[in-house]
Amino acid sequence: MSQSVRLRFAPSPTGFLHVGGARTALFNYFLARSLGGQFILRIEDTDTERNKPEFEREILESMQWLGMKWDEGPFYQTKRFDRYREVAFQLLERGEAYKCFCTPAELDAMRAKAEAEGRKPMYDRTWRDRADHPADKPFVIRIKAPLEGEILVDDGIKGAVRYPATEIDDFILFRSNGTPTYNFTVVVDDVDMKVSHVVRAEEHLNNTPKQMIIMKALGWTPPKYAHVPLVLAPDKTKLSKRHGAVAVTQFRQEGYLADAMTNYLARLGWAKGDQEIFSFEELCRVFSLEGCGTSGSVFDKVKLDWYNAHYIKALPLEKIVEHVKALYGTDFGALASTAGGRKLLSALQERAVRLGDFVSGASWLLKEAVEFDPAAVETVLKPAKTDVLAAFGAKLEACPDADWSAEKLAALVKATIAEKGVKMPELGKPVRVLLTGGLAGPDLGLILESLGKARSLARLAARG
Ligand code: GLU
Repeated sequence: MSQSVRLRFAPSPTGFLHVGGARTALFNYFLARSLGGQFILRIEDTDTERNKPEFEREILESMQWLGMKWDEGPFYQTKRFDRYREVAFQLLERGEAYKCFCTPAELDAMRAKAEAEGRKPMYDRTWRDRADHPADKPFVIRIKAPLEGEILVDDGIKGAVRYPATEIDDFILFRSNGTPTYNFTVVVDDVDMKVSHVVRAEEHLNNTPKQMIIMKALGWTPPKYAHVPLVLAPDKTKLSKRHGAVAVTQFRQEGYLADAMTNYLARLGWAKGDQEIFSFEELCRVFSLEGCGTSGSVFDKVKLDWYNAHYIKALPLEKIVEHVKALYGTDFGALASTAGGRKLLSALQERAVRLGDFVSGASWLLKEAVEFDPAAVETVLKPAKTDVLAAFGAKLEACPDADWSAEKLAALVKATIAEKGVKMPELGKPVRVLLTGGLAGPDLGLILESLGKARSLARLAARG
């Protein structure tokens, strides 16, 4: 009988959803979908000191923003303590685990001995059979780990990884204060949730033999494990806050599109031939563990920008207007309904890298008064030749409304510089500053066309 496919993402709400965590979630999601299975969300919230409700909210929102929908959950570990206790006592009854009453002094002595002998402090397995247990003494519950042989982790990405039994101690399942340990809660959850594939960060690989030991003690066949290599910074260290933006929300606020993020993150350590562009829906069909690389991948902002520019270009203008309004409050709706405005926004779209580029590229159009960049005033406006500007202004005045188009206006710019014998920047730069307040922005003809005749002339006259 084949087991049904069930994958889970199990974030701890101790921080924002990092791009590395988002990639792990997406790999789980795409694999679940491509295998026709379920995707479960589990919140590993046992670290009550570091958990914050806002982190949890942010993780869920980021997942939704990226397009993931969970079929079950979220389940909370803190709500399952009774269940963990129940399973621990089942293991005790079945002789797979034991109450350990060793004192802190005994533990210290054992550690010191191991250190003196230059080996790992393996917990003293003779404790399994101790008889000196006063009933009122606190105890921990330890698993009876195998004494010999090896634990083979047949990892879906890393291949076969072997752990000699002698390196794995009788580790703790339940602490004396009545709280379950991390490895134990994960296994009880994975068993109860009938998880078939565990896809998670590489840092959990060394937990896997322990989790497999508990699985076996519970009489459960371990899931298929796959450990995803780290996301690295350009300096090849683990990507972290000190390298800049790492939280998914931050990228969202910086004007990255969800489609660009998911495509980029899916390709970060996974490939299918040399194809770069994958829609979310295609990833849900074609994703597989076979395409996952075995070494760390560098988070490449330039490549992410390339994806974002690609997806921005592919969006209908109306969608861009919606995104920009939602993100920055700037409403290009009216502008997008005029021919000149559409032309301008489309020109910006051709070279935009982030959604914010529309705000910096076109908000000068929405404001009544020009907001001047003081540096541009100093270096461009002050030394500008007023006679050249006046000649250009006269040509604009004379331009019939019917000719007020980017192409014709660009021709007037050319005619003016030819007539006055000046170079393009001597006219272009001050006109640009007068109309937009700064030196950025699209082609001058487009700026004039989208502003319209009356506003263009008023702006040019304002600093005559
Ligand atoms: N809560 C763990 C983490 O955030 C995930 C553990 C797992 O996937 O097994 O790293």
